[in-house]
Amino acid sequence: MVEFGDLAHTSAEARAGLSAAAEIELRNRVREEVSRRAVPGMFAIVFGTVACGVLSGHAADAPGAFAGVVAAMAAAILARVPFIRSLRRDGAQCDWRDEGGFFCAALLLPLAWAGYSALLLLSYPNHWLSAGILAFTAAMSSSVVITFGMWRNLALAYIVLLMVPTAAVGMLLGSNLGLGVTAGCLVFSYYLVSQVTNWNRFFWSSQLANAHLERRTLELAAAKEAAEAASRAKSDFLTCMSHELRTPMNAVLGFAQLIELTADQPEEVRSNGREIRAAGRHLMALIEELLDLSRIESGQLTLDLQPLDLHGIAGRVIETLHGAVPPAVALELEVSDPLPQCHGDPLRVRQVLVNLVGNALKFTPRGRVTVSLSAPGDSVQMRVRDTGIGIEPALLEHIFAPFVQGDSSPTRHFDGTGLGLAISRELVEAMGGRIEVSSAPGAGSEFVVHLPLQPPALASSG
Ligand code: ADP
Repeated sequence: MVEFGDLAHTSAEARAGLSAAAEIELRNRVREEVSRRAVPGMFAIVFGTVACGVLSGHAADAPGAFAGVVAAMAAAILARVPFIRSLRRDGAQCDWRDEGGFFCAALLLPLAWAGYSALLLLSYPNHWLSAGILAFTAAMSSSVVITFGMWRNLALAYIVLLMVPTAAVGMLLGSNLGLGVTAGCLVFSYYLVSQVTNWNRFFWSSQLANAHLERRTLELAAAKEAAEAASRAKSDFLTCMSHELRTPMNAVLGFAQLIELTADQPEEVRSNGREIRAAGRHLMALIEELLDLSRIESGQLTLDLQPLDLHGIAGRVIETLHGAVPPAVALELEVSDPLPQCHGDPLRVRQVLVNLVGNALKFTPRGRVTVSLSAPGDSVQMRVRDTGIGIEPALLEHIFAPFVQGDSSPTRHFDGTGLGLAISRELVEAMGGRIEVSSAPGAGSEFVVHLPLQPPALASSG
């Protein structure tokens, strides 16, 4: 990242930080910009010359010389034209002749003004117009900071050309006033040179920062594209593998059940059958959840959003999980009346609730698991509260990430895949809701699912 400290770049250093193509493009843009900015100044100088020639009386005193000056200025303007044209070739790389030609042509006009103004100051030293000529010269040289500042050498040459003849006139006059003019020119030139230098550094540093930013943006876009492609490939692979695994696993489960239920088998064999079936079911759950997650991540999940009978869904989930409630735990449902209509996919809402209540029952050895439905604001809330073992703060931070488990060691106490909460969050967010958790070790946990009153599409369209 380019910081303010980096503004110490000279244009050469900054250009060295650009790629060759970026530098050519930028130099072309600078030349084009400078030639465009130079246009008003040309007319200002011609106007100033004519005005000073007429007001000082020089045009009347020496009409031939005056006409010669104006003609020289017109020639200086015309001299720029071919170079400006060559500079404006879009995308073309200007060679040193184009660049040098423009450089010299751009200096002809200030040279003409400097010469003519010096002549007027010398010829009419006490004329009231002298102050005006000095002010005009100062104004022209100041404007160079902004007009040509991005092309430092051109700006410096312009300032020198404007200031040196005026300073020289001051010395030639030799009076106190003349010497004062010379000193003023020198101090003012110093000030302008430092302004041009700063402006130039600022310009090139910001161009360098821009170029970095553009390059970074392109790199990030490419990285994002690559990551998305990798994620799609991973999802396709997972989907494919999951299907392949499920078919033989069904056979394993079926035969394991056969062994378990065959009465004339010794108890040890039947117990092995039970073990195989339990492990197989775990594997099937993992496969199902992996499939779900890959579908969600690859954007292939389709939701059937409709008005929800939350009360009915929660009641059925509690009925289903009845057999999994430990003896020392009470599973309860609380519903606050009236519950407004909310929207979601009933199957997916059920899946989320089964996962949350299943977890609560799994991690609550004794006490209470409460499912409560309420609508305190612009959403309906499903709360699953337990008085179980709670969650460590370090785990709580990443609890919705895939494969995060409180205990992931091979000898762990609790069954599970570490995917349930990740899937739940994705599902809830896909339905336009959100899920929150609060917990403390030993004090139980509370998961709150907020479901929108309007389906996501309607809600976003206002
Ligand atoms: P798992 O299949 O392991 O339950 P989840 O994604 O559903 O996967 O949960 C991830 C982890 O979050 C669990 O392993 C557990 O450590 C923690 N957890 C989830 N719900 C609770 C809860 N109600 N009480 C305590 N810990 C919980």
